[in-house]
Amino acid sequence: MTPANEPSFRESVDIMFNRAVALMDLPPGLEEKIRVCNATYTVRFGVRLRGQIHTFTGYRSVHSEHMEPVKGGIRFAMGVNQDEVEALAALMTYKCALVEAPFGGSKGGLRIDPREWDEHELEQITRRFAYELAKRDLIHPSQNVPAPDMGTGEREMAWIADQYRRMNTTDINSRACVTGKPINAGGIQGRTEATGRGVQYALQEFFRHPEDIKAAGMSGTLDGKRVVVQGLGNVGYHAAKFLQEEDGCKITGIIERDGALVDDDGIDVEGVRSWIAKHGGVTGYPNATHVEDGSSVLEKDCDILVPAALEGVIHMGNAANIKAPLIIEAANGPVTAGADEILREKGCVIIPDMYANAGGVTVSYFEWVKNLSHIRFGRMSRREEEARNELLVNELNKLDVHLGDNWSMSPDFKKKYMRGAGELELVRSGLDDTMRAAYQGMREKWHSQDNVTDLRTAAYLVSIGKVADSYRALGL
Ligand code: GLU
Repeated sequence: MTPANEPSFRESVDIMFNRAVALMDLPPGLEEKIRVCNATYTVRFGVRLRGQIHTFTGYRSVHSEHMEPVKGGIRFAMGVNQDEVEALAALMTYKCALVEAPFGGSKGGLRIDPREWDEHELEQITRRFAYELAKRDLIHPSQNVPAPDMGTGEREMAWIADQYRRMNTTDINSRACVTGKPINAGGIQGRTEATGRGVQYALQEFFRHPEDIKAAGMSGTLDGKRVVVQGLGNVGYHAAKFLQEEDGCKITGIIERDGALVDDDGIDVEGVRSWIAKHGGVTGYPNATHVEDGSSVLEKDCDILVPAALEGVIHMGNAANIKAPLIIEAANGPVTAGADEILREKGCVIIPDMYANAGGVTVSYFEWVKNLSHIRFGRMSRREEEARNELLVNELNKLDVHLGDNWSMSPDFKKKYMRGAGELELVRSGLDDTMRAAYQGMREKWHSQDNVTDLRTAAYLVSIGKVADSYRALGL
């Protein structure tokens, strides 16, 4: 249970923001201008379904227009409300600034349980919502570009893109009105996995810095680390899968709606994912122990805790019991401001949401650029790159023959080196570079300023600094 004195999600974001700006020297008034949400549009619309009219409530909130378009996902969930959408829009502003995606921050939500409606009904509802937003330029390639979030995915983005195109038949850039689309509707390779992949790259970068590992009271590398993941949706699933398959992590706990699975020897992420797809939950999964009270597993002894679902799951009621020395916020706002303080005092290191889950919007940025340039990344260069590499490999081949037993090419070298980078390789490379650079920017503040004692404050300092610079350049 969340304690009654717990701040709301938006208040939490404001508290964290205020903590950071107190360390900055912003001109009077600018602090307030950056903090407030510029506008929130609420729409109530009716759709005739199952023989009657159903009224739905949706929001699109624009936090900051210091850069346009503004960017941020659209969430379909019953818990959607104005406070939540505004908090999420603010986080988008800071997230985009931190990873240098040239956007302001926005977010949308529709109060709906997507599981209650069939595909055709959902399409009608989504199209109607998109129509309401597009006619007010709240979906627009140069003003406001939505993306997937909780409860939405590429299917919904394809409907939104098509709805916008029908309303703007002569707009050559119409595909850039939304990101996270399927490949055949103008999407980009690697977008679906992007947020989870970003979480993996963030952890890899953290473990490149011995000083930071020590700050969390840890040692070694990612190999063998015990990881508990909360939420096996798109983000949690990809993060857990990559950490397990590529970095040698042991997934010792998976928390879902209907309880949790635990196994200190490691749980097969792929196996659990297919079980959930078939049975609707983790209950009954045969190869791990089921725990009825799923949230108690947040308090399980582990090395890395990955909250990858809802906001506010680590609160003043359970923060003191959290044992993980390192938390990476794959979700937006999973740790409340009150819990953040308790965890900081305990010495827990938190890799903050605005950085940890920025992989999604980073690859959205690449998709938007692809749509505006009307060409797939790598199309012009891939074969040329391969031809050059082949030249070099052929020369080395001669050396191989000449030197005989004294030297030979490693078996895989030829195949690996020859292959030119296609879109997926370029997207991963761009994402990795972004995650490394943003982490280094944050840690620089963390270690160089005495009054900056945590990564979240460091992240806010970097991003608020960038937003403030943009406002200054605008003459505000
Ligand atoms: N909904 C995602 C987020 O919270 C992605 C936003 C985007 O790609 O614009 O970051």
